[in-house]
Amino acid sequence: MDQEKKQSKCNIHSNFNNNLLLFEENNIHTKICSVCAKQITENFNKIIEHDEFIHTDQNYIFSSFPPLEDKNIYNSIKNLQIKKDSSIQDIFIEKINNYFTCLKKEINQKIDNLQIQVKSKLIQMDDVRQNQGDIFLDIYNEVSSKFDIQKLYKEYSQDSEQRLKEIIKEKYQNIKSNTEKLQINIKEYQTMINKISLKTPIEIQKNILGLIDQIDFFQKSQKDIIDDIDFEKSKSYHCSQNLQIQRIQNRQIQISQSISDSHGISYANFILDPNQKYIFRVKLQTNSNSDSFLIVGIIQEQDKDNKQLYDGICYNEKGDCMTINKVVKGNNVYEGSKVDIDKEIEVRIHLAQKIIKVANYPNYENVAELEKKQLILENTQYRFAVELYHIAHNIIITHVSTISEFDQQM
Ligand SMILES: [Zn+2]
Repeated sequence: MDQEKKQSKCNIHSNFNNNLLLFEENNIHTKICSVCAKQITENFNKIIEHDEFIHTDQNYIFSSFPPLEDKNIYNSIKNLQIKKDSSIQDIFIEKINNYFTCLKKEINQKIDNLQIQVKSKLIQMDDVRQNQGDIFLDIYNEVSSKFDIQKLYKEYSQDSEQRLKEIIKEKYQNIKSNTEKLQINIKEYQTMINKISLKTPIEIQKNILGLIDQIDFFQKSQKDIIDDIDFEKSKSYHCSQNLQIQRIQNRQIQISQSISDSHGISYANFILDPNQKYIFRVKLQTNSNSDSFLIVGIIQEQDKDNKQLYDGICYNEKGDCMTINKVVKGNNVYEGSKVDIDKEIEVRIHLAQKIIKVANYPNYENVAELEKKQLILENTQYRFAVELYHIAHNIIITHVSTISEFDQQM
């Protein structure tokens, strides 16, 4: 049958077989010779060889059939075919493995290069080459005159006792200068040793490790809502009406107290949806005042205009009057009383699961959660709120979002 079709001759061009198909809209020929085909169309890509059509297996993709609006689809499917034996999981695993292999290689290279650089720099530093131990011993031996004394004892003679007494007396006379001589050298030594400090490198190390923890291939749907929300002053709690609330750069919300030593509460202008997962990021700044009473937490709807936030469900930078104090990773998140606090924390809230957690941001080194989860009541409306009381202090809301799933950072 095949053979017969293949060999059927064109009625017009007897030297040509009808071995082509032409599938053009309004111009469909199921059997045609190449001369006829070329005469009736300019769309050569609509011509398919009869053989090609007959012998295709299930993996075969035509270059222009069936007709589609987007010609790139044929190639896209052809390219995907290469991976047809891999599951999506295999493709993900391959991609992720390649990523980590490359990441490790580049980090290693970078570290190796830096290590070589630091080493060669060290070799060029003349003053670190001397052996300080010998210098100390030389000075000590000199100021103690221990060898002179030793010699006198070994060659004990009439004069020895007198000479020994003189030496010891001399030690007492020179007590000040000998002490100074050794002290100066110890100080020099310490200065030299302190020339190398691991403080910044260790901080950088922590930052790098924190960043690696944040590598995430599966994007969670996160919705930034800081533009859509606002903060309000508690209507009658202490001096809340003296708070200043303003938008600063990047739509961040800064809250500060305008009169000295006066408590004030500010709360978000929306009630937290118990089923929603929220992320708030908050900067806490003590500036010149060390009484770091800076509170972040949630307050019941009925209490928001007349009750305090501290002692309730809250975090206090000062370290007391708080319930979010169960350390689940690292150490305490709070730093206590300090004049120079300038930090950012992340607060995660999911009321339905009675979750409220606090971590230092962006490292998530230290994480604390609500010690008694039963403090979060069911069927109760809550708002996110902050409390502060010192004129020097600032609370800045830098980020507010909802997210489909919390990541594993905290
Ligand atoms: Zn023909």
